[in-house]
Amino acid sequence: MSLQGVDARTRNSNSGLQWRRKSGFERLLNANDVRAISAQALAASKQGRPTESWRRELETMDRSARFSRNASRIFQDLQARLGIPTVRPILLPMNSQPFWHRGPHTFANYQSTIRLPGVADVVIIGAGLTGVAAAYRLKDTGLRVVLLEQGDPAGEASGRNGGNFELLPENSVGIYEGLAPGRFTFMRQRYPHVPTEVLQAVSERQASLVLGLALRNRDIFKKTILNEGILCDFSPRGWLHIASSESEEQGICDEVSLAAQHGQRIAIWSRGKIAQEFGIEAAFLGRFIPGDGTYHPFKYVCGELRAALRDGVTLYTRTKVHSIVSVRPNEHRVLTGRGKIAAKSVIVATNAFTRELLPELSAIEPYQSQIIVTEHVPDRARGRIVTSDNGPVFFNQPREGAANGHAPLLMGGGNDRRMKNPSMRRRSPAVHARLLSLRDSFYPELVGQPPSAEWVGPMAFTPDGLPCIGFLRPGLVIAAGYNGYGGSYTTAAGHAAAEMAITNVVPDWLPEEIFSPRRLLTNEPLFLTEREGLWRVAASLCRQIQSVNRKLSEALTLQQPTPVLPTSSAAQILRPAGQGRPTDSIEPESLRAYDSFSKFSREEICHLLRLMRRWDLPKDTIIFTEGSPGGTCFVILEGAIDVSINAHGQQQLLTTLNAGNVFGQMSLIEGVPRSATCSVRSDAVLLEIERQPCEELFHSGSSLALKCLATLNEGLISTLRGADLRLMQLDRAELQRSSTEMPTSSLLSDNDSVERCAGVGIVPEMSEVFASPPTVDP
Ligand SMILES: Cc1cc2nc3c(=O)[nH]c(=O)nc-3n(C[C@H](O)[C@H](O)[C@H](O)COP(=O)(O)OP(=O)(O)OC[C@H]3O[C@@H](n4cnc5c(N)ncnc54)[C@H](O)[C@@H]3O)c2cc1C
Repeated sequence: MSLQGVDARTRNSNSGLQWRRKSGFERLLNANDVRAISAQALAASKQGRPTESWRRELETMDRSARFSRNASRIFQDLQARLGIPTVRPILLPMNSQPFWHRGPHTFANYQSTIRLPGVADVVIIGAGLTGVAAAYRLKDTGLRVVLLEQGDPAGEASGRNGGNFELLPENSVGIYEGLAPGRFTFMRQRYPHVPTEVLQAVSERQASLVLGLALRNRDIFKKTILNEGILCDFSPRGWLHIASSESEEQGICDEVSLAAQHGQRIAIWSRGKIAQEFGIEAAFLGRFIPGDGTYHPFKYVCGELRAALRDGVTLYTRTKVHSIVSVRPNEHRVLTGRGKIAAKSVIVATNAFTRELLPELSAIEPYQSQIIVTEHVPDRARGRIVTSDNGPVFFNQPREGAANGHAPLLMGGGNDRRMKNPSMRRRSPAVHARLLSLRDSFYPELVGQPPSAEWVGPMAFTPDGLPCIGFLRPGLVIAAGYNGYGGSYTTAAGHAAAEMAITNVVPDWLPEEIFSPRRLLTNEPLFLTEREGLWRVAASLCRQIQSVNRKLSEALTLQQPTPVLPTSSAAQILRPAGQGRPTDSIEPESLRAYDSFSKFSREEICHLLRLMRRWDLPKDTIIFTEGSPGGTCFVILEGAIDVSINAHGQQQLLTTLNAGNVFGQMSLIEGVPRSATCSVRSDAVLLEIERQPCEELFHSGSSLALKCLATLNEGLISTLRGADLRLMQLDRAELQRSSTEMPTSSLLSDNDSVERCAGVGIVPEMSEVFASPPTVDP
């Protein structure tokens, strides 16, 4: 059969049927044969669906015809476009173009002027979600703002993603277990040598900051769309995350209260509700966030860019930046393939490409993610997002192309893969197969339907799972590394970067010790080497100790542990009688002999001693009582101190502190009243430091101040461990007591006992961690 023969037949309106009647399937169909058939079937289709006769014809061809390799792919492309299933293995689609790039590109090869300007106030590198948000924030400022892009705007991650905006970046090591536990796992992996309690404190703070940042991001994002009237299929209809384990269920339930602290409502959906809303049979609960949803990221970037260009920003596409030379804090040379620009500030918004430009940021690693599109899918998601770690998977049905109860389905997932070169576009057949099986598990009606397109795009991951938003050096701002959740961060990150570029100040809501790119230049956590960070850790530890102490007090009210001390007098005692003495008689080495002070030099100890007062106190002296105002802290140089609280109207001993210990720091750091009573057990020499000289020292930011803060934190950590251990001992004693009282016939149900066993199982593990003697800081 000649090729002209096929062409002639396909020109006929009923050619498919005629073609088969005449030719049968004896001949191998080549690419041109199938192209001709495809053109004919598509021309006859209505709203993208085949006519009934074409459907039957194509189904028959699928079952019986023989195709060359290329012809198979073209035939499956036709089936995918028309929504017709195949009985054959589903191939990687021919089309690797992102769904969002289907329309025309207004800014392809856009140049604001023929030649690149030689000078600028701010140069922004990268025209994706971040760079364009920064440009938008700088419009109308009267500054000379130049936006440089190596390709075309939104050509990389911002035009290749899933089109989701989410409030909770679900970054995790393994299974996601909620924002705060997720942060903790990252911290533990990244800083294994840092004490657990510090990591706990830091993680909780990070979770709160991340949520605050994502909320800010969502607000600015919505405001930009509304203010500029950007038509980007904005659909804030909600995000359902389906848990994939019991611990994840617990984690997402905890997120409800975290979100409530920020004024955000989150609903927990039962399996029944999930089935009713999405027709999905889930094995666990889901978390639904109402204000999240889908949008068209490419249209959004273009809309925002249009507004920025209208109000003074200039754009140069297909202009690659090769290097940035910082001459002075406000003088940088940006070297491009088309010439050099002298800029006062530079914003680097290059995400997965950052390390190519700035090799020192090699810790920001490019990873690849892959997405498939299936056409004409029953519109069950209706502009909402669904995610689950069981995949992992994310999918949505965006509003572009939604009609008559059907919409395209975008599904991404499988494990993200490291990539050497962020420009690489190679798709993985393994991820392809994984995505299909995930798709079919959520949409069983799609079994056999080939996807119409499948593409990859580069994301940027950081070792601690947090974005980098801050100064790399004065005048050079980085906004990158979103760990696959640019929809949660990029708009706010762009705005923050713009503000940093013009003010040289880091906003409060992006504390440097958490978000600065400088944290990636060292293995030491910035939150333990910089004053602000140390101070916050201390405050957070204090709050944890207060909370554990409250529980301890409750537990002691229920039980009567021994020994019981004589009840301290009703009168408040703020400090021991007398004035104390100067410390000049104290030999610095006697302090340095203790572990907590061994890292201080002799000169530093001398400096510290000058800020302190000496107390020589006989046995039974009350140093201060619970509830008194406080504001100072003590170091025990000699002797031993009893720490007790009043429970049941009786003084209950919590712990005895020995030489080398510090106590009272909570009252110093938090300015709160004393939470326990301290008395001298055996004749003691104490060193007291007042709040004011201490604050002056800390504000100096000197290395001595940092060491002092670190020492206070070590004391707090050991206090917290001790208090936790004491609480666990009490809980365990209570558990043993109640179980001996309980008749064996009333043993718990299987499930309950599993839970209880799990609870008791924690204890031996923890006892290793809590090896140091228990202390409770007053
Ligand atoms: C497949 C995929 C799915 C995703 N799904 C989601 C999702 O569901 N939810 C979510 O929140 N996020 C998702 N993301 C992540 C999100 O898309 C990104 O975090 C976000 O787009 C990053 O925006 P950006 O502007 O920082 O980076 P990009 O969009 O990558 O922009 C950086 C720009 O810088 C340019 N550039 C780089 N180097 C140079 C240079 N030397 N000179 C000039 N220009 C340069 C690049 O060409 C690029 O255009 C996904 C990403 C991918 C790839």
